[in-house]
Amino acid sequence: MRIILLGPPGSGKGTQAQLLVQRYGIVQLSTGEMLRAAVAAGTPVGLKAKEIMASGGLVPDEIVVGIISDRIDQPDAKNGFILDGFPRTVPQAEALDDLLKHKHLKLDAVIELRVNESALLSRVETRVAQMRERGEEVRVDDTPEVLTKRLASYRSQTEPLIHYYSERRKLSTIDGMMAIDEVTRAIHRQLLALGAVEPKTHARSAAKAAPAKTARGTRTAAKKSAQKPAKSGKKAAKSARSAKKAAKKAVKGAKKVAKKTTERTAKKATKKTAKKAVKKGAKKAPKKVTKKRAKR
Ligand code: AMP
Repeated sequence: MRIILLGPPGSGKGTQAQLLVQRYGIVQLSTGEMLRAAVAAGTPVGLKAKEIMASGGLVPDEIVVGIISDRIDQPDAKNGFILDGFPRTVPQAEALDDLLKHKHLKLDAVIELRVNESALLSRVETRVAQMRERGEEVRVDDTPEVLTKRLASYRSQTEPLIHYYSERRKLSTIDGMMAIDEVTRAIHRQLLALGAVEPKTHARSAAKAAPAKTARGTRTAAKKSAQKPAKSGKKAAKSARSAKKAAKKAVKGAKKVAKKTTERTAKKATKKTAKKAVKKGAKKAPKKVTKKRAKR
């Protein structure tokens, strides 16, 4: 599954991307994260991006397109990915279309998280306060002034993507003002409706998370196995050996019975012609074997 999460800064793209990663086992490709890593590592890309990012501007398209193209080729992205923070401009979206086409990959959906702009500032303030509480380093671009600039660049450069993807029938809009888990559920429902995920994806992940609360079968199995005393490795091996022995014995016994029955039938049939007796014996033998087995 390959999806794009679209939304202004503070709309919850990162949070939802992480939840989707856990649920579907795909990777999150965040250009913001990759750029921050490049800045921290002091790579040539990082050096170019550092000032632009700190001021809330957009890093040149060719840089981010190059980063994404390389990242999609990594083995962990084979299963699928969520693009978070990319594309951010129409030329980036066009470049993405080209590179996916070139790599023979299909985009399943573009999920837009629509939020009330006045709530964004307080969301970002909360995020900063929580990060400080956890003793984490706060992003340099998470200040009210830079956020205002990031919002402005979202409106002028990224919002046109809503039209771009809706024209291509890829866009699904979700109310990003709902509680986090409600947004996740809405995204899942949308992906189901689009056929991007199979219905069992939910059951499988739910079973993994809480086996006792899932389908009746799973619950019964869990209950049964909980009631059964656990066998030690040695005991289990011993009982497997004796079961094998018993099976061998049973086969041997059945063969003996079959032989005896055929002989008896043949004796009884002495009055009839030899040909008839053989025929009759061969026919009756299996019946008698079954009867004898049933008696035992
Ligand atoms: P984010 O973590 O997505 O909010 O990104 C943080 C910053 O990284 C942005 O404000 C931009 O400066 C830069 N950035 C991230 N993704 C892109 C992109 N697709 N195009 C241009 N700049 C980007």
